[in-house]
Amino acid sequence: MSSDDSEQFGFDTRAIHAGQRPEPTSGARAVPIFQTASYVFEDSEAAAAYFNLQEYGNTYSRIMNPTVAAFEERVANLEGAAGGVAFASGLAAQAAVFATIFEPGDHLVVSSALYGGTITQVKHLTRKLSIELTFVDPDDLEAWRGAIKDNTKALFAETIGNPAGNVLDIAAVAEIAHDRDTPLIVDNTFATPSLCRPIEWGADIVVNSATKFIGGHGTSIGGVVVESGVFDWSNGRFPVVADPSPAYHGLAFHETFGVYGLLMKLRAETLRDLGACLSPFNAFLFLQGLETLSLRMDRHVENALATATWLSHRSDVERVTYPGLDESVYRPLVERYLPRGAGAVYSFDLPGGRQAGGRFIEALDLWSHLANVGDAKSLVLHPASTTHRQLSDEELVRAGIGPGTIRLSVGLEDIEDLLRDLEQGLEAVGREGARA
Ligand SMILES: *Cc1c(COP(=O)(O)O)cnc(C)c1O
Repeated sequence: MSSDDSEQFGFDTRAIHAGQRPEPTSGARAVPIFQTASYVFEDSEAAAAYFNLQEYGNTYSRIMNPTVAAFEERVANLEGAAGGVAFASGLAAQAAVFATIFEPGDHLVVSSALYGGTITQVKHLTRKLSIELTFVDPDDLEAWRGAIKDNTKALFAETIGNPAGNVLDIAAVAEIAHDRDTPLIVDNTFATPSLCRPIEWGADIVVNSATKFIGGHGTSIGGVVVESGVFDWSNGRFPVVADPSPAYHGLAFHETFGVYGLLMKLRAETLRDLGACLSPFNAFLFLQGLETLSLRMDRHVENALATATWLSHRSDVERVTYPGLDESVYRPLVERYLPRGAGAVYSFDLPGGRQAGGRFIEALDLWSHLANVGDAKSLVLHPASTTHRQLSDEELVRAGIGPGTIRLSVGLEDIEDLLRDLEQGLEAVGREGARA
């Protein structure tokens, strides 16, 4: 399928075909794994044109590889973006965006309800790069508006926050950002383009950790950045993107490549310099994941809703934060932004606090205790003692996490088996509680 005729195809067709035509030399139907570090140049002139970015051609797999390119093009297509650049991990993708658009003295505004690794990343990276950082409550539109200053160069939030389950009012936050000529970056990992496409609602840059639902089987680490191509990087506020670049012999990326300017800079400069490239083998596995993405997301959502509903009816469970529940305060935002479902990661609280959390997790057989989400296998975690351990108590509260908060990533197993296992976990907590 060429990108030109992709508009006429539906999401599932594009999830299987976008970014690929059968490989011409062998006729291979699947995307081949191009496991090569570099590529033979036709002649010295072609080599020079590639390195000058006058022509687009493969040089070295740190910055481009045909298997990785098929993955990048497919995700960009599914997100409704101009293009994409893949990275070795979701955090590498985010770091690359920050390194590309920020200069020392700039200011970043982020949601306070983010993936724990992202909170740690923005706190430490911004300090090292001399960038100012402000956290805001993502539900508070006036807080977003009030946080923007003359040196603010981006707003950053997640479609569905972790683990509080808050849903971002993407269109409203995008408008607030654009009123001040500032881009909105959205981490779409928990929704995936199957459930929400933030660019359709005004987001400018979307990052996904492919490690999660895109790969879908907990096998590989990877990330990808896509850009709408709509944001005007020449608006005078982003000389680092628009001006001739000393890091690429004076090339003015936005002027030369138009809608692809930022993406070209992200690849030719930032990926070149940071070196955190996606391996062709991982790109191949992510392509397999994309082919079944919406089938899997539908089942993830179905199982998530069933477990959340079941937990919300238990008297030994305190609060269930699945935004897809009718009683959720996020229900109107779910109807608008996530009509196919509110994802499959959410949390609930055990009244017994830290101890009850530990006991519950140990009593489970089927749910795996580990720090990941978005696997076909159901996963369980106690954030206060693991992923969010490095956060202060105050930051924990701001991120919506209590001592007895349990996070679930609901997999694709039979729902009866998932419920039976949760039940025996709750019974184990009850028995211990009665003894104490
Ligand atoms: C996992 C995750 C990341 C980081 O991705 P890695 O691939 O682990 O580096 C970022 N954001 C969210 C929401 C995540 O779940």
